[in-house]
Amino acid sequence: MKPMYLPDEIKTIMSSLSDGGFENYVVGGCVRDHLMGNTPNDYDMTTNALPEQVKDCLGEYRIIDTGIKHGTVTVIINGMPVEITTFRTDGDYKDNRHPDSVSFTGNIKDDLSRRDFTVNAVAYAPQTGFVDLFGGRDDIEKKLIRCVGDPDKRFNEDGLRILRAMRFASQLGFIIEPETSKSIHKNRELLKNISSERILSELYKLLCGEGASYIISDYADVIKIFIPSLSTDERFYETVKGINRLPADKILRTSLLFDGMSKEHCTEALRFLRADKKTIKAVSELSEIRDADVGTTRQEIRRFVSDNSFTALERLIALRRAKGTEPQKTDLAEKLMEEVRADGDCVSLADLKINGRDIKKLGESDGVRIGEIIERIYGLVLDGSLKNEREILIAAASEIIRKSF
Ligand code: ATP
Ligand code: MG
Repeated sequence: MKPMYLPDEIKTIMSSLSDGGFENYVVGGCVRDHLMGNTPNDYDMTTNALPEQVKDCLGEYRIIDTGIKHGTVTVIINGMPVEITTFRTDGDYKDNRHPDSVSFTGNIKDDLSRRDFTVNAVAYAPQTGFVDLFGGRDDIEKKLIRCVGDPDKRFNEDGLRILRAMRFASQLGFIIEPETSKSIHKNRELLKNISSERILSELYKLLCGEGASYIISDYADVIKIFIPSLSTDERFYETVKGINRLPADKILRTSLLFDGMSKEHCTEALRFLRADKKTIKAVSELSEIRDADVGTTRQEIRRFVSDNSFTALERLIALRRAKGTEPQKTDLAEKLMEEVRADGDCVSLADLKINGRDIKKLGESDGVRIGEIIERIYGLVLDGSLKNEREILIAAASEIIRKSF
C-alpha cells in the first residue's frame, strides 16, 4: 500500500516524539480521509507519551492543554493545530456519555479499541505503516460504518455514537452495517441522555451529508427521540427524498426535515436542541410561509418580498424545487424575483424615494396621518401604479393631502 502523504508539520512532530523514544501515529479522521482518496482537513495524533512528555518533546512550540485529563494537548506548529492524545482506554460509562475515568495505556491496540467505528480506528506511522486491527480499511472499501466491538455495548457506553454512526454514514455516503444498524434502532432511547448541543451539531452534519435522504428515511425513529413532533407520515418519506437536492445548508435542510410540522413545533424543537436564534427564526418563518401563494406576477412577487424578504423567497423556491411542487410556477417565481432584483424595484419602505419628512414638508403634521400616507404611496409603488421616482411620489402625496382636506 502506498505510504500516506503527511505535511511537514506532522513529520516534524513525529520525529520529535520518536527522538524522545515514543511511539506515535496519525489516527482517526485523517487516515480515513486519506484512505478514501480525500485530503484531510486536520490531523489527530496518538502516542504512548504522557501529556507532560509530549510537552517536553515539543517544548519549542506553543502547546494548549485542550483536555489534559483525557490526555489531549494541542500543539500549534506553523499555525497548524495538531491534537495529540496519549493512548488510553476509557473506564466505565455510568451516564452513557462520559467515561468515569480514563486510563493511559502503553498499547496502541487498547487505544484503537476504544474508538467508535472501524473506519475511525486505523492508525498510521511511516515506519510501521497502517495499524488496522478491526478491518477499517476493508470497511472503507465496502463503504460500511461498523462499531468497533459489540454495538450494544459501545452505544451503551456513549449514546452519542448512535447519531455519529448516522452522521458518518450520511457524510461519507456509507451504509450502516446490519448489526450496528439493528443496535442503533434498538438503543435509540439512549440519545435521551445526550446534551442538546452535541445532538444538534451531529444532526446538522448528518443533514448536510451526501446520504442525508436515505439515512433520515431509514432512521426516522431515531430522530424522533429528540424531535418528538417530527411528522413521519407517508408524505414525510416522499419529502425527505428531496433533501439532497438542496444545497448543504442547515436552514434549508432543517426546514425540509420539518416540512410536516407546525410553526410552534418547529420553534419548540429547535429551542429544545438549543439552536442559535438566527436559525430558529429562519426555520420558523419558512414554516409559516411554506404553503403561501407567491403569485405569478411581478407585482405579487414584490408584495411577497416586501412582506417577507428576498432571502425568504429564495429559500422557499429552493424548498419547492427540492420537493418538486408546481415546478413551472416555481420557475416563474424565480424569474420574476430575479427581474425585481436586477431592476432594483422598490420592495421596502427604505427603497421608497420619499419619506415622512417629505410628507411633513408638504404640510401634514399629524404623525399617524404621515404614516398612513407613506403606506398608501408604498402600496401604489408595490403594485406598479406609481413609479418609484421622487417627483412622481411627491406629486401623488400632495394630491392625497389635498383630497383629504
Ligand atoms: P471529522 O472529520 O468529522 O472531524 P473525525 O473522525 O476526526 O471526523 P472527531 O469527532 O474529530 O471525528 O473524532 C476524532 C476521532 O476520535 C474519531 O475518528 C474516533 O476515532 C474518536 N472518537 C471521537 N468521538 C468518539 C466517541 N464518541 N467514541 C469513540 N471514539 C470517538
Ligand atoms: Mg476531527
